[in-house]
Amino acid sequence: MKYVSTRGSAPALDFAGVTLAGLASDGGLYVPESWPTFSPDEIAAMRGLPYAELAARIMQPFVGDCLTPERLRELTGRAYGRFSHAAVTPLAQLDERNWLLELFHGPTLAFKDVALQMLGLLFEEFLSREGGSLTIVGATSGDTGSAAIDAVAGLDRVEIFMLHPKGRVSDVQRRQMTTVRAPNVHNVAIEGSFDDAQAMVKRIFSDTDVTANHRIGAVNSINWARLMAQVVYYFAAALQLGGPERAIAFSVPTGNFGDVFAGHVAARMGLPIERLIVATNVNDILHRALSAGDYTAGTVTPTAAPSMDIQVSSNFERLLFDVGGRNGAAMGEQMRAFEAQKTMRLTNAQREGAAALFTSARVDEGETAQSMRWAYEHCGETIDPHTAIGLHAARTVPLPAQTPVVTLATAHPAKFGDAVERATGIRPSLPTRVGDLFAREEAYVELPGTYEAVRAHIMDTAA
Ligand SMILES: *Cc1c(COP(=O)(O)O)cnc(C)c1O
Repeated sequence: MKYVSTRGSAPALDFAGVTLAGLASDGGLYVPESWPTFSPDEIAAMRGLPYAELAARIMQPFVGDCLTPERLRELTGRAYGRFSHAAVTPLAQLDERNWLLELFHGPTLAFKDVALQMLGLLFEEFLSREGGSLTIVGATSGDTGSAAIDAVAGLDRVEIFMLHPKGRVSDVQRRQMTTVRAPNVHNVAIEGSFDDAQAMVKRIFSDTDVTANHRIGAVNSINWARLMAQVVYYFAAALQLGGPERAIAFSVPTGNFGDVFAGHVAARMGLPIERLIVATNVNDILHRALSAGDYTAGTVTPTAAPSMDIQVSSNFERLLFDVGGRNGAAMGEQMRAFEAQKTMRLTNAQREGAAALFTSARVDEGETAQSMRWAYEHCGETIDPHTAIGLHAARTVPLPAQTPVVTLATAHPAKFGDAVERATGIRPSLPTRVGDLFAREEAYVELPGTYEAVRAHIMDTAA
């Protein structure tokens, strides 16, 4: 399997290459040159497989000959063995039509564990083959940082520097990062906002003094291997609800468009999907793009669902490329114009291609709280604000009768306990496996919000 850049001018790479590269050298994102497909019979034959086994089947065509089937099965077994539920991503029924796909049974209680637990193992595998090492530098507003740190803690060939804006992540989120004690984990609290931290990370990637001495890696969802791992749970859910004989709809709380793009991939591979609902909060650039063709970045409004507070959705470029004719040169031109002007129109092909599978909805703060209350009062379920946005969209977007709707539950409610308590009066408790989080000792350095300070810290500390 070869991977090509959405902007057409970076070299094609194999799976190991795209896993270690992250972003393509032309600024684009890597996508498979063509989509592998399964027939309805092949999909039906996957029913009943344990999750790790299903994962290896779905991933194998993307991995190509970079891993043997046996080795891939070992890795999925290790990654998903760390989840606290035997089904890994179990379904919970809410009413006769609505289901929750619980993606929060991993070590850090957010869906990002599903992909990052696998990515950590893939890094180690491919690096040990070439005898290399990787220095991951990332910025986080919460969930990505803890999931990435947990996934790579203790690995020999990977070192991680995670920057978070001091005082602007929740206590649970900070402690999930800073109480991990491993020699390859470096937490940094910087003065300033998440955007300031993110801007510093971007500078590190293009700082030749740093890159001359360290291979810098990325863990955000521009990394193809993350999306590949997320395709699996669409198959797992559909197989339990009557697929492939019956088409299922999915409602996905969306920020960077990674999770819902994985649903598009599942559909391309042959899984019958009735609709993918892109649920946004008031930061609704994707809703405007999908409903009116207008992709214009505004300013970010903070909400109760911070992991969806974004104005530019990196992975949307993958969809526009795939449904818009797969023309790398045209895509590069369109994205460069967007980067300069912060606004662009979708082409007719992009609009029509997206409309064939995607519907969008914008959910405001009042509706989010109402949705948490509805789930509690009518179904006895406490759900987090991100999941609540997905569920509100699932219950309001028109769909054919009889179609089951699966809302992706992207975070454990205890991770956003204050918002859940405000809406429902119930304070969800942390699962016992992370219950001593507040007793563990924290370790992190505090730095002023200047690039020089961050750069010096990385240069001095990295092995
Ligand atoms: C990251 C995240 C999202 C958004 O996922 P994308 O792949 O960026 O669209 C939604 N909910 C939670 C809890 C998250 O952590």
